Amino acid sequence: MTSIQHNLQEVRQRIAAAASRCGRDPQEITLLAVSKTKPASAVAEALQAGQLAFGENYVQEGVDKIQALAHSHPEWHFIGPLQSNKSRLVAENFAWCHTVDRLRIATRLNDQRPPHLPPLNVLIQVNISDENSKSGIMLEALPELAQAVAALPHLRLRGLMAIPAPEKDYQRQLAVCQKMADALASLKQHYPSVDTLSLGMSDDMEAAIAAGSTMVRIGTAIFGARDYGTTPPQQ
Ligand SMILES: *Cc1c(COP(=O)(O)O)cnc(C)c1O
Repeated sequence: MTSIQHNLQEVRQRIAAAASRCGRDPQEITLLAVSKTKPASAVAEALQAGQLAFGENYVQEGVDKIQALAHSHPEWHFIGPLQSNKSRLVAENFAWCHTVDRLRIATRLNDQRPPHLPPLNVLIQVNISDENSKSGIMLEALPELAQAVAALPHLRLRGLMAIPAPEKDYQRQLAVCQKMADALASLKQHYPSVDTLSLGMSDDMEAAIAAGSTMVRIGTAIFGARDYGTTPPQQ
């Protein structure tokens, strides 16, 4: 068994264990394998092991892998910060975008989504706890942005995403995740298309699942440590 195959099994077991501890069906939780900085061959290996959905942070790097693996049809999620000048590549190549946090980006994605493709699935990124992050909107701004996004015909509003500030204490992780789950619950009441909470990484996956996450984003535990070399990858 390759190490990617082995790691995937372990991560799936962790998800199943976390789900069963809080009485949830593990099938409700999608594992998004975050393949940023990893070669297409690593994604191919994960596909071989039954992994279907992959997350990328850097637009051009993601598009290169999407093209290299077009024959095997993985589901590609864009999960990085999105600049306006890269929105077209996301609209044309990805199935999901997790990082919509302003109307200008949503409008561009909508206008640039090719009509022969199904609507782009989008999540609104919420800045739930990280004062140092410029990504994500405040919860107070969510109703207005959600209403505008839901009205765009080539986007499908699926839910919310957050990257909570790093926190070691489980109870505090849980409290933050619970705020996201509450926000999702109220969004769901207004928009029937909403069903997804993208929340939980390697260190807070258990708390995220306990709170109600439906999609955890895991990179290192599947593909191993990332090597950025001396220069970080370009957006
Ligand atoms: C890199 C990244 C992940 C995965 O992080 P790991 O620590 O490698 O598991 C998840 N979500 C986002 C938004 C990321 O950028």
